[in-house]
Amino acid sequence: MEDEILRLKAEAEAALSAISQAGELEPFRVKYLGRKGEFTLIMRQLGKASAEDRPRLGKLANEIKQVLEDAFTARESELKAGQARAGAVISEDLSLPGRFTPFGKLHPVTQVMEEVCSIFEGLGFAVAEGPDVEVDFYNFEALNIPKHHPARAMHDTFYISESLLLRTHTSPMQARVMEKQEPPLRMIAPGKVYRCDSDITHTPMFHQIEGFLVDRNVSFADLKGVLSIVIAKLFAPDTAIRFRPSFFPFTEPSAEVDIACVICGGSGCRVCKQTGWLEILGAGLIDPEVFKKVGYDPEQYSGFAFGLGIERIAMLKYGITDIRLYYENDLRFLSQF
Ligand SMILES: [Zn+2]
Repeated sequence: MEDEILRLKAEAEAALSAISQAGELEPFRVKYLGRKGEFTLIMRQLGKASAEDRPRLGKLANEIKQVLEDAFTARESELKAGQARAGAVISEDLSLPGRFTPFGKLHPVTQVMEEVCSIFEGLGFAVAEGPDVEVDFYNFEALNIPKHHPARAMHDTFYISESLLLRTHTSPMQARVMEKQEPPLRMIAPGKVYRCDSDITHTPMFHQIEGFLVDRNVSFADLKGVLSIVIAKLFAPDTAIRFRPSFFPFTEPSAEVDIACVICGGSGCRVCKQTGWLEILGAGLIDPEVFKKVGYDPEQYSGFAFGLGIERIAMLKYGITDIRLYYENDLRFLSQF
């Protein structure tokens, strides 16, 4: 009888370890551990054993049954865990498209700003940056715009106090740089500027790049040469340019620079108001009065300066007619650049 019990134990253990699918568990349980299973039958046969063997055999059979039940439970949870893992693998459908991670992009104004800066850097200009909150002296007085000068009215200035303001142009950097350095100088100063003005072509904050070059014998021809290269790189190599006489307090003579309309090519359209020309920047030879303010000798040095609006250039480059689109933060618009 003892042999029978041990044989049954070995048989059941082999059968249990052969089980590879959850569906095979229940037949095993019924066959060995169920109420009509092999072990129940053995227990019943214990009555036939001799009285002295009976307790020992009963104890052995019970112990083995307990061991098998524990092994069965362990195997059952093992298989269920395996099934859950398999299920998880199956639920990953490899044919589904991956999750889309949107790419961030540089703002179109930033892109044009960087492009313009890199063109000037290629021509040997260094980049200087200055404060957005500026003192009246650098914004106006050092640029030959004393108090009560009528040119101040053109600027629609945001004043913070009597002497402090949000800079209305990037030109203050001319005076700030020239104060600290001796010629020769080739600088550009990109940055934000502020004017109390808002409509389809004006925003209260916009971007400018101021540029200036100071050396001996600098002439209007040098200004024209530099701007021709920049405009050719920024638009098309054969873009026509014209200089129109103008007035700025800090340059003499002064000019406004037009390019042939990039929309119609010069034949006349709504954007160029049928003139065929688009104004893109202001420029001139630096006024000797500005040199005197920073301690340069106007008899020795001459130079040119120019300022261009980045939003304006970006509008022309991309054919945008409302400047406010740049600042509405509409991703449908911004993601096109
Ligand atoms: Zn046009």
